[in-house]
Amino acid sequence: MKIPFLFSVIILAFSCSTPVYDMVVTVGGEVRADKLGATLAHEHVLVDFIGAAHADPVRHNRDSAFSIILPHIEKIRDHGIKTFVDCTPRFLGRDPLLLKMLSDATGMHFLTNTGFYGAVNNKYIPEHVLNMPAEAIAAFWIAEFKQGIDGTGIRPGFIKIGVDGETLSDFHKTLVTAAAMAHKATGLTIMSHTGKASLAQEQIDILEAQGVKAEAFIWTHAHLEKDMTKHVEIAKAGAWVSFDGFRGNPEEITELTEMVVNMKKNNCAVKLLLSQDAGWYDPEFPDGSNYQEHTLIFDKLFPELNAAGITDADLNRFLNKNPGKAFTVKFRINE
Ligand SMILES: [Zn+2]
Repeated sequence: MKIPFLFSVIILAFSCSTPVYDMVVTVGGEVRADKLGATLAHEHVLVDFIGAAHADPVRHNRDSAFSIILPHIEKIRDHGIKTFVDCTPRFLGRDPLLLKMLSDATGMHFLTNTGFYGAVNNKYIPEHVLNMPAEAIAAFWIAEFKQGIDGTGIRPGFIKIGVDGETLSDFHKTLVTAAAMAHKATGLTIMSHTGKASLAQEQIDILEAQGVKAEAFIWTHAHLEKDMTKHVEIAKAGAWVSFDGFRGNPEEITELTEMVVNMKKNNCAVKLLLSQDAGWYDPEFPDGSNYQEHTLIFDKLFPELNAAGITDADLNRFLNKNPGKAFTVKFRINE
């Protein structure tokens, strides 16, 4: 059949204008990055500190946990939050089905993760993993991304690792190398519980040696580094800088305000993530009595930031634009 010229021009114009969107993987499936809405980039609904040796999903009753967590999530929804990034890794109580229940009940998006958390002397790493090569660890994370987690069909939206110490241990170097390999296979962003700048830099160096750009890396708990020049340095290297610990005391408010203002002053607002690392249902407190609200930054920090010259447009960037970009599934690889 011969297609009339005008008709073929219309078809061509239509197919050329079909946009390709950046996507984020949530527990409910893929969501356009620009539709995530206001996002808390580092929170937890559940954490179990028992350690990998005794970690077991049966340590919490999912339905009871759900009914305790739900009102806390509804409160942040009332503050306009649309997306919750749950940073609890495997062996620390990660429960994708619980996140899916919360997502269904609230209409909000939830992200979960793949990865292993090496901080705290590898307490949350099973013994046999300590001797695994990076390739084998990465293969496990890649499989979770491709096939879903534990038969649930729910896919991780980022890689979560954790390191600590003065310098990276050999095993923590293996974790970072595995994260680089998994990024190259999946495009998932790497969020690392880190703290001080020297460890962040060590990790970025390993990623770059593996061909992965700093843009793929979120320096989590960067506020624990008190030298503010380091926040700027690492943001300018391309990494995401996440100030994500807040319990509402006056010293924290003063310090975080200075840090956020410093990032803006040095043109690094485009690389800043702001959250509070709050929550969570803890199986040791089944009545939920120790749950820390996710609303403290709205009530106590944001007014101080506003008073210090951080505008609503800035806050919109930290909560709205930046997380969508940070969690976009995309290869950030050196040619
Ligand atoms: Zn955390």
